[in-house]
Parts: sequence; C-alpha cells; structure tokens
Amino acid sequence: MLKRIDLGRNYRNHREEYLQAIEKVCEETAFSGGKFADQFDKEFAAYIGVKAASGVDNGTSALQLAMLALGVGEGDEVIVPANTYIASAWGPTYTGATPVFVDCTGDTWEIDPDRIEERITERTKAIIGVHLYGQPFDFGRVKEIADRHGLYIVEDCAQSHGARYEGKMTGGLGDIGCFSFYPGKNLYAFGEAGSVVSNREDYIDAVNTWKNQGCKIRYYHDVVGYNMRMEGIQGAVLSVSLKYLDDWTKRRQEIGWRYIREIKNPLITMQAHPENTEPVFHLFVVTTPEAEKFLEYMAGKGIECHRHYPVPCHLQKAYAYLGYRKGDCPNAEYLAEHCVTLPMFPEMTEEEVKMVIAACNAYTFGK
Ligand SMILES: *Cc1c(COP(=O)(O)O)cnc(C)c1O
Repeated sequence: MLKRIDLGRNYRNHREEYLQAIEKVCEETAFSGGKFADQFDKEFAAYIGVKAASGVDNGTSALQLAMLALGVGEGDEVIVPANTYIASAWGPTYTGATPVFVDCTGDTWEIDPDRIEERITERTKAIIGVHLYGQPFDFGRVKEIADRHGLYIVEDCAQSHGARYEGKMTGGLGDIGCFSFYPGKNLYAFGEAGSVVSNREDYIDAVNTWKNQGCKIRYYHDVVGYNMRMEGIQGAVLSVSLKYLDDWTKRRQEIGWRYIREIKNPLITMQAHPENTEPVFHLFVVTTPEAEKFLEYMAGKGIECHRHYPVPCHLQKAYAYLGYRKGDCPNAEYLAEHCVTLPMFPEMTEEEVKMVIAACNAYTFGK
C-alpha cells in the first residue's frame, strides 16, 4: 500500500544527522527553550526573511500567541476562512474573541476576498488568512480590505513553508505569520512545535513573554502567561530539516505539477493556482462527485488517500453556539463533501507517482 505520506522514509534518509543533533541536545541538557531552540529561531527568521521568530510548542499555540500579541480578545471578532483545519479558528476563540467564518472561492478554495467585507463589523480586529494546502491565498486583495478597515492580517502558514506570493515568502507578508511543525507538515519536528514570525520585533517580544509564563525576567511575571516554549530537541531537529526544506519543496512541486498536467479525468477537479503564487503542495487535494467511492477505488489500487477536511469549520459541533447553518458557506461545504487528498511527499518514487496518475486516469465510477 502506498501511504498518503511516509515520514519513515525521510527519517531513514537523514538518520545519522538527526540522531547526532538530538545527542547534542542531550549532552548539553538544553531541553526547554535554550540554545538549540534559539538557534533555530534565528535560522527560521532568516529563511522566511523576517526580523524575528519565536519558537513555540505547536502551531495552535502560535495562533493563540499571535492574537495575544495583537491584543485581540474578549468582544473582538476575527475573520477566518470556513475551509481550513479547525485550529485556524482556535486562536481567536481561546483569547475570548469570536471567529467569523467566510467562504472560500470556487476555484482556489482559499478565502474569498469578495465575501470578507460583508462580514466586517465595528468589532472586527483581524483577518486570519490561511495558505491552505500550501497554496497562497489572495494576499493583495485581502491586504487592500484590511488596510481600508484598519485590520491586522495574521497568516496561518501551517501548510505553506516556503510558498511564495508575488515572489515573497508567506509568513512575512502580513503582521504576524504562524507556523506549525507538526509531523507531516512540509517542515516538521519529532513531536510538536511551531513558530511565530514577524517583522515587528515588539510583537515577537510580546510572544516571548506570553509563551514563557508571562515573564521577561525570570520569576517576575508581568501577565498571566502560558508555558508554550519550544523544546530543545525540536529546535535541533528542525535546524537539520531546514537545510533540506528547499530540496523537499522542489520535489513536492515536481510531483504536484505532474499531477496537474497528467491527471486528465473529468471526474477529478484540481485546485486553481494563480500565476502570481508559488504553491508548495503540502496536501494535494482534488474534488470528485463521489469522494467515498473514489477513496475505496484508490485503496483497491493500493493507494491510500485521505479527506481534508470532511466538515467545514462553520458547521463543526464545537461552533454550534455561533448559529451557522448549511448554506452559509456553499463553496466550503461543497469541498467538505467532495474532497479527496492524493499521496504527496518528497520521497515518492517515480513509479509511485505514475501509479497515482494512472489510477486517477482510469477512474470511471461516480456520475
Ligand atoms: C496543522 C495546522 C494548524 C495547527 O498546528 P498544530 O501544530 O497541529 O497545533 C493550524 N492551522 C492549519 C491550517 C494547520 O494545517
């Protein structure tokens, strides 16, 4: 069975280097925060092209800390796309703000700029834009709207490490960028980790305080903070992986563009990739009239697929209290019902890529 993603292959390719990096952390017992986490912050900020980065315990915390750094909380509203992983909305929710869900477009499946303004009120403080599946959202149009209404833009880059919009790396486009290094993301830790990046050093200073029990000076607590520091082992592993990220991205892009060119089946619809963007193909999501049938068919061909994501945020039970209904975000709802994720990871062999393409082209069920 070809797995949708096979992290074991990556580990075995770089095993010695990873183990040496971990060994060093153990030798120096720099386990929580500390020199290896700090070193990765510097490298990651340089990679994204921002002034500063703050390593944290996961991507969900990164989004929460971004809200705290911007002072978004009780009584505020934050625009979030309906088609995303639920954690995009947790950040504002945790700080007491209300996520306001906006539909995606019918072709890029990213937040629809035409649907944002109708949801802005005097309480709106920020827009969380998600570069979903590694495809940058329409930052230019979102920025225009944000500027007109005096709103912050937080980029959820959990799926877009290295993706570019008009030549610029995602993460440094808005006020704050939030990354996840969850295993399986394009750049990932050996456990949980994330990062908050910004060109505003005061935001990163604030994140550093919030994530570190609310103190700048040890044992002097300025705010009721959190323990959301990055672990040293994760920093050391990430420093190893960051050196290879561009190679991995290149391979993902090779596979992604081949899928796009060579899968020709009217039953399979691809995401649109506008010319001013460079996607990094974190997930290769397509839609098909009968997603479950397609999933079974692919499994029968020895290919594991998946569904990202079967329920849009606005219809999740957790957000029932917000009172959304079916029909509120039709494009996101269509996607949830019809999406299928094809295998996509840098270590896929040529034979495996060909096998996926051939299976997709031979698919004839459904309508
Ligand atoms: C993975 C992910 C997150 C959350 O990151 P964790 O590290 O798992 O907490 C947030 N947003 C999106 C879009 C994600 O894919």
